[in-house]
Amino acid sequence: MSKTEVRLRQPIVVVLGHVDHGKTTLLDKIRGTAVVKKEPGEMTQEVGASFVPSSVIEKVAQPLKGIIPVKLEIPGLLFIDTPGHELFSNLRRRGGSVADIAILVVDITEGFQKQTIESIEILKDKKVPFLVAANKIDRIPGWRPIENETFTKSFRSQSQSVQKALDNYVYKLVMQLAEMGFNAERFDRVRDFTRYVSIVPVSGKTGEGLPELLALLAGLTQQYLKTRLRAVEGPAKGVILEVKEEQGLGHTIDVIIYDGILRKSDTIVLGGINGVIVTKIRNILLPAPLQDMRMTRSGYRSIDEISAAAGVKISAPGLEEALAGSPLYVANDEAKLQEARKLIEEELSKVRFSKNSTGIVVKADSLGSLESLVAGFEKIGIPVRVADIGPITKRDLIEAELSAKEVEEYGIIAAFRVKPIPGLDTSKVKIIYNDIIYQLIDDTIKYIEDLRERRKRRTLDSLVLPGKIKILPGYVFRRSDPAIVGVEVLGGVVRPKYPLIREDGQRVGEVLAIQDNKKNIERATKGMEVSMSIKGNIMIGRQVQEGDVLYTDVPQEDLEILFKNYKDSITEDMMEVIKELIKIKKAENPLYGIFIQ
Ligand code: GDP
Repeated sequence: MSKTEVRLRQPIVVVLGHVDHGKTTLLDKIRGTAVVKKEPGEMTQEVGASFVPSSVIEKVAQPLKGIIPVKLEIPGLLFIDTPGHELFSNLRRRGGSVADIAILVVDITEGFQKQTIESIEILKDKKVPFLVAANKIDRIPGWRPIENETFTKSFRSQSQSVQKALDNYVYKLVMQLAEMGFNAERFDRVRDFTRYVSIVPVSGKTGEGLPELLALLAGLTQQYLKTRLRAVEGPAKGVILEVKEEQGLGHTIDVIIYDGILRKSDTIVLGGINGVIVTKIRNILLPAPLQDMRMTRSGYRSIDEISAAAGVKISAPGLEEALAGSPLYVANDEAKLQEARKLIEEELSKVRFSKNSTGIVVKADSLGSLESLVAGFEKIGIPVRVADIGPITKRDLIEAELSAKEVEEYGIIAAFRVKPIPGLDTSKVKIIYNDIIYQLIDDTIKYIEDLRERRKRRTLDSLVLPGKIKILPGYVFRRSDPAIVGVEVLGGVVRPKYPLIREDGQRVGEVLAIQDNKKNIERATKGMEVSMSIKGNIMIGRQVQEGDVLYTDVPQEDLEILFKNYKDSITEDMMEVIKELIKIKKAENPLYGIFIQ
């Protein structure tokens, strides 16, 4: 096949970057420019994405002829409308992303912030090439803006000191990118675009630099992503960006089709909360043509078919449980259906899982966000026990409590855009909520570290240590409130404030004071015979008899700290007590003392 015969589809472009660095403004400017420059009928409206046709790109980039020679083979660029991490994470595709290229927006005067750095990590992970839009150049002191001008021309018209200031900012970005392992340069100094990340200075406000940005996006994608962009005539493949309930339409899915052709008569296979959904398309919808930029929620029109790449809304029966972030395949015969079902099942079980190991519980509202969260947690060494979609349920609480018994700080639920089911008592489990992926991860790390820190600070003195006493027959001085008895310490240590349990694990009260020869003492150890007052649920002759043996009720965490930090303080007799305690406590908590074996 000769070169000219290969039809290319439009590349899918995403916009990422730190909050407030100008993603929305830049996208609006691109869309606005496109609307102004298009001929009537040239621009179709899409769902979840905006299509900028080649004719518009060529017009915008016209003044660059000679600098960036671009003859466009791609039909245009498809920009995903909602910028940022959250939707990007739903653009998932086996081992990568549906996005073909990304614009990383950075406020040139502020440089890369945490979230941008995180975006870069994600792009690297998903192998999505990107270029940097160094935004807000109009903010550089002394900058004289020329609306919608090319960067090249506008830059030339600035004073020398302003030019220098801009280059200093660009240089800082180059350094920051170098630290992250990327070669980068201002776009007009890049010779090898496969080895260098291009930095394009722009202003989303004045439109300066937009011609270069669009020309580069188009030029780079069609030159380097040709294989990926080759248009396929086969059945459509897509990804669910969002699940929405629409008036008059019921539950619909907004889908980005990245491959093949979607037809109204198609049967589609996709992931749902309770497994794979197979359904027949009712309508493929696009927004009705608009005279201006205003977005309207109503007024869709139905079409018979559409080729990738495109953003469409699909209405079909049974989409209530559709999962955002799930793949969508067209399957019009049984063999294809089985294959699609298998692929989707595999995909779902990779992202949603439940393990029998210690770790936190993660709940999210979409497959994409769940996947990003789990990857984020695992990357920093926080294990995940349960990863699932949907509201927080009783089962999640139980899973978290089980984790807490092994490692206290993992007994938590990280919740992304989900809430507990109504009426659920969540008071016993720490739930961390945040609607921004990286902040949820940060909040969780902070909680875990705080808890660890607090625990580390706890001294031996603050722990309840293992101890065993026997109530000496004939030495009951008072039966209750508080009970006062003579005891012999059979092993370990007993101190005031220690809770006590019987040999069957039943809690009986707390040590109030210990006296030796009528003097208050702070601790009694093996072999000592002392008098002890015990407050709480205890009456000698009822719950506790003369001659009974009691143990100190050592919390699992205290036992763990004792072993981890103060192993030297464990005497032989204390060790015996520990073994007996584990037997007692295991009846109720199978994990008690598990780390000792
Ligand atoms: P986002 O959070 O990344 O989507 O950022 P926005 O697009 O909402 O922009 C954040 C703020 O920066 C808004 O007040 C914008 O008006 C402003 N802003 C964005 N781009 C530019 C720019 O190129 N120049 C100037 N001066 N302000 C900008």
